[in-house]
Amino acid sequence: MDILIYDIPDEGLKIDAGSGDDWLSGVLIDVLGGLVDKNSVSAQLNIMRYDDNIDLQGLVQYNTKSTCDRCLAKFDSHSNVDIHTVLIPVSDGRERLSAGEIEEIELSSEDLEFGYYEGDRFDLADVVREQVLLARPMKHLCKHDCKGLCQKCGKNLNEEICGCEEESTDPRWASLKGIKVTKN
Ligand SMILES: [Zn+2]
Ligand SMILES: [Zn+2]
Repeated sequence: MDILIYDIPDEGLKIDAGSGDDWLSGVLIDVLGGLVDKNSVSAQLNIMRYDDNIDLQGLVQYNTKSTCDRCLAKFDSHSNVDIHTVLIPVSDGRERLSAGEIEEIELSSEDLEFGYYEGDRFDLADVVREQVLLARPMKHLCKHDCKGLCQKCGKNLNEEICGCEEESTDPRWASLKGIKVTKN
């Protein structure tokens, strides 16, 4: 999905993409594999050009079917990925903005990402891929307080309390049990 820099009109270029746009569903499948519901993907992006610098803002949305890391239940979730990236041209291997200038812009906007493009175009799919990758959750939980499975009998503790309680230890602390505390 190449965007030609000098094709971006003064009022900006609006991209409204959905599941029928192969570049978009391709990116999400690249990053999320079979977890993503192909029919749910959409992206609304607004691309502005300020001289040679490109300001890209928008929203990418998709649904996934994941497996909970704690209780192994399958669950559906919806993700919104806010995108705000500035692309800066690389010329003769040097960035046109100095490191100081980049730092200044970065400080002025916390959630701003920077990227580079070469020549007269950039690949929109690459920008979206990077942002979706960064936004990917580290953990998949069906709900934030999922109780998980009993370590002993394997029952889903969100659904029922099993009889193993008295012997159960929070698995997060189990590894600390063997540690002896010594005082100096
Ligand atoms: Zn769960
Ligand atoms: Zn149990």
